[in-house]
Amino acid sequence: MPHPDTWLRVLPAGLFCEPGGFFIDPLRAVDRAVITHAHGDHARPGHAHVLASAETLAIMRARMGADRAGMAQQALGWGEALAIGGVRVWLQPAGHVLGSAQVAMEWHGSRAVISGDYKRRADPTCAPFVPVPCDVFVTEATFALPVFRHPPADAEVARLLASVALFPERTHVIGCYALGKCQRLIALLRQAGWDRPIFLHGALAGLCTLYESLGVKLGDLRPVAGTAKAQLQGAIVLAPPGAIADRWARRLADPVACLASGWMRVRQRAKSRGVELPLVISDHADWDELLATIGDVAAPEVWVTHGREDALIHVLGQRGIRGRALRLIGYGEEEDADDGEGEAPPA
Ligand SMILES: [Zn+2]
Ligand SMILES: [Zn+2]
Repeated sequence: MPHPDTWLRVLPAGLFCEPGGFFIDPLRAVDRAVITHAHGDHARPGHAHVLASAETLAIMRARMGADRAGMAQQALGWGEALAIGGVRVWLQPAGHVLGSAQVAMEWHGSRAVISGDYKRRADPTCAPFVPVPCDVFVTEATFALPVFRHPPADAEVARLLASVALFPERTHVIGCYALGKCQRLIALLRQAGWDRPIFLHGALAGLCTLYESLGVKLGDLRPVAGTAKAQLQGAIVLAPPGAIADRWARRLADPVACLASGWMRVRQRAKSRGVELPLVISDHADWDELLATIGDVAAPEVWVTHGREDALIHVLGQRGIRGRALRLIGYGEEEDADDGEGEAPPA
């Protein structure tokens, strides 16, 4: 059985499946790309052929325009297999954002799975992560330090609603990125019984409409623009992180700046961004989820992308699992805080 490092190579453009002739989440435009999900650092414009979930393709078209989202697009359903140059390729949900997939590949009985970004917590806006046993698991490692343990998201939402009840004359404005976090937050608020209108910064509206058209119900959403300040007292407003402490927020009623991100575990980071109410809500696996997932897929070898690999590789070694840092440059960098959270390391 060929070891995956003989057929899966790290090239300057990204991870390349040699017998299949395709890249996974390439960092620049290529002929054939398989895309895990539509965040900007994983889904780049200008590929000739793109293979992804139908939802990811729809989000790519909405974000970059149909002409830049791949000249030829092919959608693959969950678990539906395709043979590309003798490589069996299929997608399984990654639980990160709507449409997010893991890419599973098998070549002569040797199996590798690329996680993309993932989480294991329940998310009402996307399909849950499915562990796929494999010989090599390529994992993200955004929060790969023992300090990162995300609390339950519904407990964070309960803290938010308690604050809203405590300050009924103020607007709570929550910084969250446009793809995934925003819609998950809305869905979590609805689950918690918040059925009043939720107000949106204009930059978040488009993807909410798209999510709804793809079957994710979000309830009564209204634009902040054109809403009187008095009507925003006691309201919940969602905005890109860069807007919450910005001039834009002056239109709100004595706003309470909140930010929903796994990085909010780092107090200094919340403080430096002017965040009054940090909410530790992440769409990435925390330290425990990373280790549990690596256990679930039972891979004897794990390759690590975008993150602080050292701690994870050290712990894997103690468990008899071979770890390898891929050192692919470019993931989690393009998406700044306004679009993703997997991004800059904690200050
Ligand atoms: Zn992502
Ligand atoms: Zn990422």
